[in-house]
Amino acid sequence: MKFRNFKTVPKIIFGRGSFEQLDDVLAEERQKADDFVVFAVDHIHKDRALKEQIPAQSHDMIIWIDTTHEPKTSYVDQLTEEVQAFANGKNPVSVVGLGGGSTLDMAKAISLMLTNPGGSASYQGWDLIKNPAVHHIGIPTLSGTGAEASRTTVLTGPDKKLGMNSDYTVFDQIILDPDLITGVPKEQWFYTGMDCYIHNIEALNGTYINEFARAFGEKSLNLCHEIFLEDHPDADEKLMMASYMGGQSIAYSQVGACHALSYGLSYVLGYHHGIGNCIAFDVLDDFYPEGVKIFRDMMKKHNITLPKGITQGMSEADMEKMIKVASGLAPLWENVYGTDWQEHVTPELLRSLYEKM
Ligand code: NAD
Ligand code: ZN
Repeated sequence: MKFRNFKTVPKIIFGRGSFEQLDDVLAEERQKADDFVVFAVDHIHKDRALKEQIPAQSHDMIIWIDTTHEPKTSYVDQLTEEVQAFANGKNPVSVVGLGGGSTLDMAKAISLMLTNPGGSASYQGWDLIKNPAVHHIGIPTLSGTGAEASRTTVLTGPDKKLGMNSDYTVFDQIILDPDLITGVPKEQWFYTGMDCYIHNIEALNGTYINEFARAFGEKSLNLCHEIFLEDHPDADEKLMMASYMGGQSIAYSQVGACHALSYGLSYVLGYHHGIGNCIAFDVLDDFYPEGVKIFRDMMKKHNITLPKGITQGMSEADMEKMIKVASGLAPLWENVYGTDWQEHVTPELLRSLYEKM
């Protein structure tokens, strides 16, 4: 039997206003006069108040991360080269990611690629990274993905959507400041928040579950109920913790059917992770009856309407590609059905689910 020996984020600051402490955290990394920091910041913040609070010094580098599309290996490689050119090959002392899951993943990926040659597509998989990353810090401005806690950075490459999963991927430090997620537009808040809710439902109903993963998953799920079914005054604080604990839960368990289907939607139709999950989850009554029922209550409460009929009129080749992507995610299906998952996950089943969306 093989037990997972999973790495967690070693340093965490939590609380409203804690973003201010970033400067002190970076001071510990800055040793020499020419040491510099890279701030990878979601482009949405370019015109927002947060921009003025970034503790950048004159010789630091700020990269505005374009999150129109979710992270691609080509974008990671391009930005890594820009960082390398910035200081003639000298690496930064820290890479700070400031944004949602996409930006956090970009920061993780750049910090890994600065010390591992050959381009990010060659590291999509499990434990392919050879060298420790540059020190990297994650600061969410959108909560739900659990990217702040996880050992992966999800990338779309030339032939697959797959993370660079490794112990080196994990952030050295995270700062969870609920002020930073206050005022996120409602639909985005909901879709990314549902990513967390669905992580918990899939982990808690999976065959991989153990008491370690359950402890985090149940608490995270309870927080999701308070956030999305009640109007709790501390909803921002709760969502930040729910996201982190959901990430901790799946670190020792796994996601399931919804994520497998959502990966297909994303790869072929370009749906972003949060909304793609919601579209897929809405047809999974047979898999997660109670979870789907409560999910619909949450949608109703927040007036969310999902796109429908999204696979109508798509080509047979695209449908087959989507089925191939979804059925290729072996650990996810094993979590759903156990080791004989291949007997259950037929192309016909996946097609019928996609056709309902
Ligand atoms: P995102 O990072 O893609 O951002 C979605 C939108 O929200 C963007 O337009 C962005 O500009 C905007 N945004 C971010 N912060 C904002 C703020 N404070 N106010 C207003 N708008 C803001 O969305 P996400 O759902 O957080 O992340 C999705 C990505 O995370 C996907 O690429 C997915 O694959 C990845 N993911 C990674 C992990 C992991 O463990 N690494 C887990 C789940 C998902
Ligand atoms: Zn997810």
